[in-house]
Amino acid sequence: MPLKISQNKTVKYSKHFTLSERNDVSKITVICGPMFSGKTKGLINEIATHREQNKTVIVFKPLLDNRYSDNEVVSHDKDKVEARNIEEPVEMLQFIDDVDVIAIDEAQFFNDSIVDVVEDIAAMGKDVILAGLDLDYRAEPFGPMPMLLGKADVVKKLHSVCTFCSAPAKYTHRISEDGELVLLGEKDKYVPLCRTCYKELT
Ligand SMILES: [Zn+2]
Repeated sequence: MPLKISQNKTVKYSKHFTLSERNDVSKITVICGPMFSGKTKGLINEIATHREQNKTVIVFKPLLDNRYSDNEVVSHDKDKVEARNIEEPVEMLQFIDDVDVIAIDEAQFFNDSIVDVVEDIAAMGKDVILAGLDLDYRAEPFGPMPMLLGKADVVKKLHSVCTFCSAPAKYTHRISEDGELVLLGEKDKYVPLCRTCYKELT
């Protein structure tokens, strides 16, 4: 049976196929980059924009991230919004019935199940905005971020400023000697570096 798929195109499709109600309005947005590139600030700005449009927004972050505050997302220049700490991505589903937009900070620290949960939420017609480090301090893709970037409708890749030469920085270099990958910190532990400086230092 010919199926009209747009104003001026018709395709032949052998199986019975009925268009369900379209949901093409919800978006998955990923804001990524190295440390000190303004990811959390970008997330807070997106939240503010949606709230100005009278949309309800809920903010989640991984339980381990308590460097500034237990129930807030705080940018490096101390902008903040209230947030709910969760351990497992699936926990989000119990809080979003009456919510238009789901914002998630430090997405790199969640396990891979966040990918399916985010897609399920978008399929409900809700926007999802995630912020996270795309690369760890070894310049390896961080946790679920590569998959989230692949699934995203909108990707905003931010840069920081190289500590040594002021070029755009895409790497986070760790200057502390701790062996842990999950290490939250400030500028005494990590510095943003450009590609050339990163290569020379590592
Ligand atoms: Zn540099």
